[in-house]
Amino acid sequence: MKKLSIVIPAFNEEENISHLVAELDKSLADIAYDYEYIFVNDGSKDNTLVELKAQAASHSNVFYIDLSKNFGKDYALKAGIDMAKGDAIITMDADLQHPPHLLPQMLQHWEEGYDIVYTYRKDSNPHVGRFQKFASKKFYKFINAISDITLENGISDFRLLDEKVVYELKQINEYEIFFRGMVKWVGFQQMGIPYTPAARHTGEASYSFWKLVKLAVGSIMAFSVKPLYIATGLGLFFSCAALLYIPYILISKLYGFDELSGWASLIATVAFFGGLQLMVLGIIGSYLGKIFMQTKHRPNYIIRSTNLPRSRK
Ligand code: UDP
Ligand code: MG
Repeated sequence: MKKLSIVIPAFNEEENISHLVAELDKSLADIAYDYEYIFVNDGSKDNTLVELKAQAASHSNVFYIDLSKNFGKDYALKAGIDMAKGDAIITMDADLQHPPHLLPQMLQHWEEGYDIVYTYRKDSNPHVGRFQKFASKKFYKFINAISDITLENGISDFRLLDEKVVYELKQINEYEIFFRGMVKWVGFQQMGIPYTPAARHTGEASYSFWKLVKLAVGSIMAFSVKPLYIATGLGLFFSCAALLYIPYILISKLYGFDELSGWASLIATVAFFGGLQLMVLGIIGSYLGKIFMQTKHRPNYIIRSTNLPRSRK
């Protein structure tokens, strides 16, 4: 019998765990696969771990990985994926926003031969504010324009991955992880299905605005060096403009049609170019910082305890 591993990162989800297991059991009741749940406790401050241990005690197919601190969702996902042994892996959120009833459909597409079945939020989704919708649309547009991968608007971390995709993902050894991008980047036969996310069962979404901005910038830089080329382009543009300006000054001086006064414009120009140079240096510095972090070869996550056999990894 084929086996499924369902990987679920959890950060402060104590009240959602038992509910999610019950919902998933219901959705998987008529399915001809063996399945296991691998929860990754991402340094929760509440009783998520206690809840996970209780679930593991009463269900033989519930496993947990307890990370040593909060590493972030993508890192928790990596921890779970690294230790999953299924013929297919499904990743989903713990807060019931990713509807479990889509699982049979995802599995059907997998049986049809797709290696990756991902989901994306329907545009009409009522649980997302107008500003967030706008920002997310712009973000995807921007990342698509600036990097070498194309992400659907609203693509989510609710997806099915075939074993061979998982094998390739495990080979990627990067300091900074952005799963949505990585999964697109590996290729294979991909298929997307739209979904309407439910409201969070309980608790609060833990991504603040600045955390999302940081994520956006990080993921653009992880997938593209185009910002560096843009910096070069800016430099070229302004040097050309200056080159054209020099003959203009000379001619206007000769024919006297411009008085050439105004230290204010001079200061403004100096300040503008000073700022521009610092910005470009900042971009270069950010990439340098990433190279520095990558050379340290630190692990993406640290496991404090687990009820999975250690041989899994
Ligand atoms: N999550 C995590 N570590 C974090 C933040 C979130 O493992 O640092 C988990 C969280 O428990 C949930 C999923 O990632 O299962 C999505 O998080 P959330 O609901 O806060 O975000 P959103 O629904 O806005 O994407
Ligand atoms: Mg959520």
